[in-house]
Formats: sequence, structure tokens, C-alpha cells
Amino acid sequence: MAELKSTDRVVVVGAGVAAAQCAVALREGGWHGPLSLVGAEPHHPYDRPPLSKDVLLAKADRTALDLDWEALDVQLLTGRRATSLAAGRLGTDAGELPYDRLVLATGAIPIRLPGAAAARVLRTIDDSLALRAALRPGAHLVLVGAGWIGAETATAARRLGCRVTVLEAAGAPLPGALPAELTEPMRQWYAQAGVELRLGARVDRIEPGAVHLADGELVVADEVVVGVGARPDTAWLAGSGVELDAGGAVSADASLRTTLPGVWAAGDCVSYPSARYGERVWVQHWDHALHSGRAVAAALLGGEVAYDPVPYFWSEQFGRMVQYVGRHSAGDRLLWRGSPEDAQWSVLWLREERPVAVLTVDRPRDLAQARRLIDQGAVLDPVLAADPALPLKSAVR
Ligand code: FAD
Repeated sequence: MAELKSTDRVVVVGAGVAAAQCAVALREGGWHGPLSLVGAEPHHPYDRPPLSKDVLLAKADRTALDLDWEALDVQLLTGRRATSLAAGRLGTDAGELPYDRLVLATGAIPIRLPGAAAARVLRTIDDSLALRAALRPGAHLVLVGAGWIGAETATAARRLGCRVTVLEAAGAPLPGALPAELTEPMRQWYAQAGVELRLGARVDRIEPGAVHLADGELVVADEVVVGVGARPDTAWLAGSGVELDAGGAVSADASLRTTLPGVWAAGDCVSYPSARYGERVWVQHWDHALHSGRAVAAALLGGEVAYDPVPYFWSEQFGRMVQYVGRHSAGDRLLWRGSPEDAQWSVLWLREERPVAVLTVDRPRDLAQARRLIDQGAVLDPVLAADPALPLKSAVR
């Protein structure tokens, strides 16, 4: 183990999936030295994806990771917030912790709007349980933002018998993420589920029981949830020597090492230079949290790490499983496999006949095959690739 000595103290800040996976992978890699996880929440590490799905629907009350921390010999310092960082010393609200190697995995926090105190956000298990208690049948829920979390929350709230209005400032759901020909069918999903989706509705401020729109209209609500994105939870690193990028994410190198010696970063709080995409990328998905956490462990264990996966995420909305793998840009050619009128369809983005991304709606096989083809840089016959009756892999030239 070139990097870590058995007596080195490793401290991981943040007790989410990235932090947990980093700790587990260190132990799986055979390192037995002192290892602590510092987490601001009072809970053991848990998964967030079910918070807007099974937890809201009362199918689950907890989503803790199924790990035996005692057996792993990991010291869990939960309910403790890191407040400052200097070489070799982590300041927390319960005193200083010395470290030899530090991993930053503090995730992201929801962006707030003016009047935030009158609105809910959905980031933690406590947020989810509190929102669930408020979603009584007949209650009017106003969701600000028609993004992934907005769509999932609207889905759950409708199932719970709420009246749901979604206010979106842009002209389509998922603004910026997907082109209009894809968001148009998704707009229909809201209507079919009985959700009122109001596009071009810019929120000025929120007050108890009401949302003020920029055009002066007042939208009355029993509950307001703001889901307009998240930003890296890194403000506490100011002045530490850890460089942040323009978006506030920890600016790491290709092995997820930060600019402060002995400090790495993983998950929603980090950006890294991608050779695959020729730019620095910031990813906020569960799959990235898992793999980047494990990649940091591999780097700490002395491995040569060049972290550059094909990004993947999923969303469960309006009774559909939506999955996306890869990364597309505006100039890529969009190819439909099936029609948005079908129950199941996919779209593929091609760059010079190579797939760079795929979005699937209830077509998991397309997703699995596309993931491999993107990774391999396969060249596809576009005519065969557009035939939904053929497996995607049969389109390889
Ligand atoms: P986090 O999960 O945010 O964990 C970071 C932890 O660090 C938090 O517990 C935080 O309290 C703690 N922390 C922050 N600052 C400090 C500090 N200074 N000191 C100590 N602790 C600190 N992704 C998908 O791919 N598919 C999905 O369907 C999906 N659904 C989602 C649904 C919801 C409601 C949410 C919120 C997210 C969802 N995601 C989904 C995204 C995914 O959950 C995140 O990408 C993932 O949780 C990131 O993991 P992380 O460990 O980097 O950060």
C-alpha cells in the first residue's frame, strides 16, 4: 500500500453514499487503520433515492445502508458538522479531529428561494418523513420546479390523493437537461396523472400558504415544496486551500485528489476533469456517488486512479422507469427507438455514428446494451439502431 500506512488516521466528512462506499472499499481493500466518518445528520449513512419514492408512499420508513459499522471497525461520528479545514486538522462543532488523509463527501444542499422558511425541500430522510405526514388526501401541494425530484414528488403526492400544481419558470419540464421533443411527451405525463403543470410560471417569493409569481399572481397552497436544484455543500471549506470550481464544487484532479495535500473528494460535492468528455464535469447521481467513493478508496490504497465513468441515473415518475446513461450535447443526432405514443420507448444520441447517450422509458434492455456500447465507443448502423424491434447491440457495424 503505497499511499496509506497502517497507523494513518483517515477521516471521511459527510456520511452519505459516497462516504460509506469509500469506507467500505478501504476495508475491502485490506486496510485496517483508524477510520472515522463525520456526518452532520443524526443518522447512520442512508440512501436518498427512495426519499422521493418509497418513503413518501410509506413503503419504507428508513433507507439506512445495510452495513455493520461495528464489524467494519468504522467510527461513526454522526450529528457532528465539519466547520473548518486546515492541513492535518478538521474543525467540527464538537472539537477538532486530526487526520493524515481526509475525504470530502459532503454532498449537495437544495437551492432555496426567497421566503424559504415557508417552503419545504426534499433532501434528507427527515424532510421526506415530514412531507409525507403533510400530504393528506385533498391537500393542495404546490411544487416549484419541474425537474426530476419535482416529477417524483408530484407522482407520490397524486397517489396519496393530493391536488398537485407544479410551477416551472421555463417553457418545458426538465429545462436544460433534455430537448423539447423529449420534454413534450413528458409534459403529457403530468396531465395524464392529473397534475397541473404551469410552464413559464416564475416564482418571486414564498410566504406561508402562498406562492407569489413574478407577474403578481398569488397561488394558494397547503404545502409548498421547492425543487429547483442543489449546489455543492462546500461553503465551510472557504480559506482551507481546497480549490472550488465556479459552481462551488471541490475542484479535484482525475484521481479525485484536491488541491490540499492529503485530501480527496467524492460524490455530489466534487467536479473532476473528464478525458472522455473533454471538460470538467459535476455529476449529482447515486451511481457517481458510489463509484467515486470507491475510486477515492482505491487511490488512497495506492492504486492508479483515472476516474472517468459513463454517468448513469434513473428516475421513477408517473408509473414509468426513466433511465439515462452517457452525456449528450446539442449537436448530437437524436434517434428514436419507438414512439412517445408507445408505453415503452428510447432515444439514442449519436455523434458520428457512435452512441454518446441514451434515455429509456421502461426499456431497461436498451439501457444495459447502450451502456456497454457507449463505453466501448461502438459504431452503429443508424437504420438498425432506430428499429425498436431489434436489440440495440445488433446495430453494431
Ligand atoms: P449526500 O447523499 O448529500 O450525503 C452527504 C452527507 O454529508 C449528508 O448527510 C450531509 O448532511 C453531510 N454533510 C454535509 N456537510 C457536512 C459537514 N460540513 N460536516 C459533516 N457532514 C456534512 N440519484 C439517482 O441517480 N437516481 C435517483 O432516483 C435519485 N433520487 C433522488 C431523490 C432525492 C430525494 C434526492 C435528494 C437525491 C436523489 N438522487 C438520485 C441523487 C443521489 O441521492 C445523490 O447523488 C447522492 O445522495 C449523493 O451522495 P453523496 O454521498 O455525495 O452526498
